[in-house]
Amino acid sequence: MNLTPVRMPVRASDRLVDKYDREFPYLRLSITDICNFRCEYCLPDGYHCRTRPEFLSREEIRRLVTVFADLGVWKVRLTGGEPSIRRDFSEIIEMVSHLPGIKTTAFTTNGYRLLANAEKWHDAGIRNLNVSVDSLDPDLFHKITGHDRLKDVLAGIEKSLDVGYDQVKINVVLLKDINDNALTDYMEYIRQRPVTVRFIELMQTGDNLAYFKRRHRSAQVIRTELVRQGWTENIRVNGAGPAVNFTHPDYQGAIGLIAPYSKDFCLACNRLRVTATGDLRLCLFGDIGIPLRDLLQSDDQMPALKKRIIKQLDHKKSSHFLADGETGLIPNLSSTGG
Ligand code: SAM
Ligand code: SF4
Repeated sequence: MNLTPVRMPVRASDRLVDKYDREFPYLRLSITDICNFRCEYCLPDGYHCRTRPEFLSREEIRRLVTVFADLGVWKVRLTGGEPSIRRDFSEIIEMVSHLPGIKTTAFTTNGYRLLANAEKWHDAGIRNLNVSVDSLDPDLFHKITGHDRLKDVLAGIEKSLDVGYDQVKINVVLLKDINDNALTDYMEYIRQRPVTVRFIELMQTGDNLAYFKRRHRSAQVIRTELVRQGWTENIRVNGAGPAVNFTHPDYQGAIGLIAPYSKDFCLACNRLRVTATGDLRLCLFGDIGIPLRDLLQSDDQMPALKKRIIKQLDHKKSSHFLADGETGLIPNLSSTGG
């Protein structure tokens, strides 16, 4: 895909707009690399760490998000690893969601702690919730994630619907010959539930090439089936991000497709990422990590941090080069924040 630069980025104290005229109101912030699951496409051997990493402290997160909010970011997604593993997770939510300019605090979870905490996290300020559920079959779920926890995770989703989150989504990584025939199960699940199920194409990362080759399946198979069954593709709202959504009058929920290998996926990119140790990643699959942590140590560094972020945005490329097998810096999504 080729994006033509339309103008130079807008300068300091303005919005985050890159040279391809894309705006970035959305920050995905990893708060830990650690995860208790062993999803076979992500951390098949579980989490291992050679040196003990120091993840961003609450004060560092406060400064970081304050500066991003000043640059026009209004949505923050907390991710990981498994973000709910952090002991101060509720305090982080509370702090981030009360920072001036932040309208939506979201998070992505494997659902392990959802049942016990859905209410607490909602009260702390989470409004949008994405829960990963790669199969609705308990044995298959166990096989994929290494945990026999489907029942609890689904109970956590029910609880979240009762508690009243604005949006509850389920993430399903589409896996050839594992869950690529499960569309009907998910459709049944959302017939009476206001939940969006999003099929995400498996992405190649530094660690998973053999698995990727074996299991990657294009989301086109789901699209074809949805259209055949009378689902309608929703008109894309400006700034809505790269997911394509389908609805059907007989179903309360919706189905989304995230197809990073599709043409023009990056045209709708609206997000920047920061790793759990404070590196800015302009693209999930980018080959540069820009350290920000040295400028997160005191409030009076915030103007310098702002300048650095704006300057670095000049380097954001038009697209990832996944189709050429270029996965950038990431060994797996747990290490960057998926
Ligand atoms: N642990 C949380 C979870 O699993 O929801 C949050 C972090 S996880 C890295 C975020 C999302 O990335 C999950 O929905 C996961 O299924 C997805 N993911 C991980 N590795 C992936 C890959 N190689 N390709 C596509 N999606 C992936
Ligand atoms: Fe953990 Fe999420 Fe990776 Fe699964 S996808 S291993 S839950 S970080």
